[in-house]
Amino acid sequence: METLGMLIDFTECIGCGECVKACQQFNSLPPNPDPEHLSDRNYTVVLRYEEQYYRKLCMHCQDPTCASVCPVGAFTKTEQGRVLYNADKCMGCRYCMMACPFGVPRYQWSKAIPVIKKCVFCIHEVNGGKETACSWVCPMGATRLGRRHHLLDIAWSRIRRHPDRYVPYVYGENDAGGTSVLLLSGVPFEQLGYRMDLPQGPMPQLTWQVLSKIPSIVLTGGVLLGGLSWIINRRIQIETGDLKENELAGDKEKEVGDE
Ligand code: SF4
Ligand code: SF4
Ligand code: SF4
Repeated sequence: METLGMLIDFTECIGCGECVKACQQFNSLPPNPDPEHLSDRNYTVVLRYEEQYYRKLCMHCQDPTCASVCPVGAFTKTEQGRVLYNADKCMGCRYCMMACPFGVPRYQWSKAIPVIKKCVFCIHEVNGGKETACSWVCPMGATRLGRRHHLLDIAWSRIRRHPDRYVPYVYGENDAGGTSVLLLSGVPFEQLGYRMDLPQGPMPQLTWQVLSKIPSIVLTGGVLLGGLSWIINRRIQIETGDLKENELAGDKEKEVGDE
């Protein structure tokens, strides 16, 4: 199956925030007191740099480092292109948070039994699987879904036709090995906080074996012990039925595969 993608053309975005609201509603996220930062309650944000609006969300990498560093395989890249997280496998080590080149995964620090939260590329129910909530509601077509290679053609065609409007770069085409989310901008990406120093190929060398040998991470190796305690507590809660319904609902979202 050919990978899906999402093209976000920042030059078309009017900053209405409908994508953020739709994401909150569709993913049953609780009210969010801090709409300007990604969090366990906020899978995407719309920000402004001078005259241009722009979005941030999980980039759904082609070769995701969140998956390669995870010691228990809690992240998977699906054939469709989504990168999904399975809370039942997670042991709470947070290597994914350290490894993500885009600083995306968020931890539920306020919960007794926290899990990782991030955008799920929610195509499974919106418009018969043809849209995500954020692309479905976007009034400007600034966020759109399609086959990744087709979206790349569209992006480069726009750059060629309007060189005065765009920086000549499709962010995500090759960055960190390529991502399913592709970005167009009229403002240099580094000014929007997007890293331009990432490898232009996959980062498979970044595995949990490597991470676990980095001194600063070994020093905080308590996360592993914390992880063990976390998983034991979680199992006990599941077995005794103490997990709240919304926590279980959050877990279920990642179970919806791409079949
Ligand atoms: S952006 Fe980060 S969390 Fe999302 S797929 Fe890539 S490595 Fe994983
Ligand atoms: S794809 Fe779905 S989960 Fe991801 S930002 Fe858009 S609405 Fe939110
Ligand atoms: S819904 Fe579309 S136009 Fe509105 S903020 Fe989101 S991407 Fe921009």
